[in-house]
Amino acid sequence: MSGDISKEGPLNDVKRIIGGQKKLSKPDYISNTRLNFDQQWVGTLSSLQKLGLHIDRAVYPNKGETHIHGENISLSMQYEPIPSDDVPEKISKYFLEHIPNHQRESWKVMRSFSVTNSTNNKKLDVMELVLPGYRIFFRPSSGDYARVIHDNDINVIQISGDFAQLRTLLSLMHEIGHVHVDKQYDPDMAKKITDIRKVYTNYSVKLTQNDLQLVVQDEINAWDFVLKLLQPFINPSAHSFLSEKAIKEDMAYSLKSYWKIIDERLGRAPISL
Ligand SMILES: [Zn+2]
Repeated sequence: MSGDISKEGPLNDVKRIIGGQKKLSKPDYISNTRLNFDQQWVGTLSSLQKLGLHIDRAVYPNKGETHIHGENISLSMQYEPIPSDDVPEKISKYFLEHIPNHQRESWKVMRSFSVTNSTNNKKLDVMELVLPGYRIFFRPSSGDYARVIHDNDINVIQISGDFAQLRTLLSLMHEIGHVHVDKQYDPDMAKKITDIRKVYTNYSVKLTQNDLQLVVQDEINAWDFVLKLLQPFINPSAHSFLSEKAIKEDMAYSLKSYWKIIDERLGRAPISL
């Protein structure tokens, strides 16, 4: 399955080839009190809907820049089409071979990406969060789709969506979070999680509840990263686009598919959603 590219999610999950990393000290975005899946977030999902609303109208020229501003948050990005002088030919070729033909003209490589809180001027340089050797490939689209490609020396965070819908920002941050979280596992744990993910939906492979839980915890760790990094951009007003509740609901919504599989595997009644 080398070279496999897959959608984020348990049914068809991210391929991770990890090895040789030293265990790093715990970065501060991994909070001490881990987020726990909380049933109360599921059911209403009222804030989650706001993440799908457009905070602005965004236009994405093939090469150039886009600025999005709504409420108290601004996003600025610069990009150019793939292939690009900025991307080794091997990576462009690999990537373009693995996406549908009709999409080939529309993928771009992100050159800069920042998020600013216009109320307090706090700024997040998203490109600085991307580890060396990784690139963000972006395609403007009305859908929302994100994944990480790890295949030998090809490391791409792939995102399609419209950043005028903040769910796309959350998806991008979640994938960047996975890359960071992977690096702080010791190699045995990283490999274990990768192996479990491969068979997560294959019910003929026996997995313990603990194994299944590891994948959920891995997801929660990536969400921890999102929550921590986007905290300065959360608007406290009750009806804001980006609230802490919205981020947690997005997480709950994403985790529900993992929980559904655990419930099915363990023969429990699935959580109601
Ligand atoms: Zn994930």
